[in-house]
Amino acid sequence: MQTEVSELREQEGKLKEVVLKSGKVLRADVCVVGIGAVPATGFLKQSGINIDSKGFIVVNKMMQTNIPGVFAAGDAVTFPLALRNNKKVNVPHWQMAHMHGRIAALNMLAHGTEISTVPYLWTAMFGKSIRYAGHGEGFDDVVIQGDLDELKFVAFYTKSDEVVAVASMNYDPIVSKVAEVLAAGRAIRKRDVDPALPCPVHEVLASLPLQVMLYFNVCFFPCWCLAEGMMLQLKYNLLPRYYQLLLLAAFLILTLAEGARLYLGYIGNLQEKVPELAGFLLLSLLIQLPLLLFLLTDHLTIRLPLELAVHSLLLAFLTCEVVAAFLALRAMSRQLAAQFYLRQFKVGSRGDAAGHDPPH
Ligand SMILES: Cc1cc2nc3c(=O)[nH]c(=O)nc-3n(C[C@H](O)[C@H](O)[C@H](O)COP(=O)(O)OP(=O)(O)OC[C@H]3O[C@@H](n4cnc5c(N)ncnc54)[C@H](O)[C@@H]3O)c2cc1C
Repeated sequence: MQTEVSELREQEGKLKEVVLKSGKVLRADVCVVGIGAVPATGFLKQSGINIDSKGFIVVNKMMQTNIPGVFAAGDAVTFPLALRNNKKVNVPHWQMAHMHGRIAALNMLAHGTEISTVPYLWTAMFGKSIRYAGHGEGFDDVVIQGDLDELKFVAFYTKSDEVVAVASMNYDPIVSKVAEVLAAGRAIRKRDVDPALPCPVHEVLASLPLQVMLYFNVCFFPCWCLAEGMMLQLKYNLLPRYYQLLLLAAFLILTLAEGARLYLGYIGNLQEKVPELAGFLLLSLLIQLPLLLFLLTDHLTIRLPLELAVHSLLLAFLTCEVVAAFLALRAMSRQLAAQFYLRQFKVGSRGDAAGHDPPH
């Protein structure tokens, strides 16, 4: 509104009009005065306990004052809020007072517990449910979804590109979901909640090193097959009977599994498909790696020099590919999880494909 009240006008002892500094006159029957609250901490002045300029008792993350063994909690304190880089804040809500008391009690019992919570307020007035989560101080924009006139909306308070707080009326359970995401240490961006902003260009998660290794692996694989086939033929009659069968089986399994493995690796990495890439990783770790190690280390297999060379090269490929695939898989699953969480905050992408209504 960017204005102030200059006069309240009455008629027969009852409020009738409010005059703004701009000169505008508003009709009014009731006046609600929001003047804030001042903590009654004057009695602590001589105690040596740190009190800030506004009268709040200053505590650390363990709800302890500057005097060891003296704790404070609730509306009367300022404490470091992890969510806002440990800025000292005062949050006068019931949930926070409850959490403060719990943390203070744990630390009195020497449990060494730091406060880490997302401020959360809920209330209900005239049958309307109101929720608020986060800490909106310093916000520079508000993104509103829903219908303000119908009193059914959610307001995201943003600072630069980040959502710092959210308030809702009759729009459950969105505020609880935002609180969950913030509590998990994830940031919510403005573009995740503002339907007017385009979604960011999809970040490429496919691993280039993995793709290069897979390419050379595919080229090298026929050479490995040929060399191993020839070596097996050369030493076949010199092997004990059960080793003949064992090596033949190992050769066949390695060849078949390698074909499937390389295919899954290509698809999984290039198309960023988590199940395929996980299959690639499992085949590498559970089949190829043990079999190759067996061929390389068991002295009864009669290791010929060419065999040692091709097996070692394949092992080197395998080891590097496992590391690269693990890193790519981790990045893909993290993005998938983030997308899963954030989809629900944007109108138009929240379950409407399935024909569901927004949350009530
Ligand atoms: C009208 C109103 C509505 C609210 N609605 C909501 C809501 O809907 N949702 C929500 O989350 N929060 C709400 N709050 C805020 C919530 O009530 C407070 O955040 C919460 O009660 C704080 O708890 P506290 O223990 O820190 O302080 P308090 O509950 O205020 O308790 C402090 C106690 O200390 C006593 N005291 C003070 N000085 C002394 C002294 N010198 N010696 C001994 N005792 C002393 C007081 O009498 C009081 O009993 C509301 C607050 C008000 C005033």
